[in-house]
Amino acid sequence: AFLAVLAAGCVFVLAHFERMASQMRKLASVDGLTGAMNHSTTVSLLAHAMERGRREGQPVGFVMLDLDHFKRVNDRHGHAVGDQVLKAVAACARARLRGSDVLGRLGGEEFGLVLPATGEAGARHLAEQVRLAVEGLELHGDGGQPLRVTLSAGVAEAARSDTPETLMHLADKALYQAKQKGRNRVVVADDWLRNSTLQSVVG
Ligand code: GH3
Ligand code: MG
Ligand code: MG
Repeated sequence: AFLAVLAAGCVFVLAHFERMASQMRKLASVDGLTGAMNHSTTVSLLAHAMERGRREGQPVGFVMLDLDHFKRVNDRHGHAVGDQVLKAVAACARARLRGSDVLGRLGGEEFGLVLPATGEAGARHLAEQVRLAVEGLELHGDGGQPLRVTLSAGVAEAARSDTPETLMHLADKALYQAKQKGRNRVVVADDWLRNSTLQSVVG
C-alpha cells in the first residue's frame, strides 16, 4: 500500500511539472527548435509593424511559408530528421532577412515573415529568394541519403484597414493557391483574392 501511494504521488508530481513546463513553453516568445518567434509573439510584432507603417506612411509585407509534403519527409526519414529540416529551413530564411524583419514559427511546418517598410514587390522578391534557397538546400537523411524539400508561399501587403488577423488570413489564402497550383511557388494576394477573402469574412 505504501508503494502504491508513493507511485501515485510521483505520478501526481510529474504531471504537475509537465503542466508547468508546457505553460512555460507557451510563455516563452522564442521557439526552442528553430529560434523563430512563436505564434503569439509574431502576431504582436506584426501588429506593431502595421501600426508603425501607418504612422510613417510605409508599407508592411507579410509572407506565409509552408513546407511542401512535409508529412512525407517525416514518414520517410523520421521525426528527428524532420526537426533538423525545420531548423535548416528557418536558418535559410533568417539569413535573408533584415534586422528589422521578423521570422515567426506559426505552427508545425509553417513560418511567417513580418517585413516592415516592404511592399508587395519586395515581399514577393524575398519570398522567391527564400523559396530558391530552400529548394537548393542539400540535406541528408540519417543514413546519409540525399533529402530535398520545397516550400510554398503566400504574400500580402497590408492595407490601411487590415488587422494582423485579416492580413495573415489573406496571406494564407494566397498560400493555399500556391499549394493548389502545384506547390514550390510564391503567390501574391491580388485585389480579387482580397475582395473574395473580405466577403468570406463578412458573410
Ligand atoms: P502540404 O504540401 O499540403 O503542406 O503537405 P504537408 O504534408 O506538408 O502538410 P500536412 O499539414 O498534411 O502535414 C504537416 C506535417 O508536418 C505533419 C507533421 O508530421 C509535420 N510536423 C508538424 N510539426 C512538426 C515538427 O515540429 N517536427 C516535425 N518533424 N514534423 C512536424
Ligand atoms: Mg506543409
Ligand atoms: Mg502546414
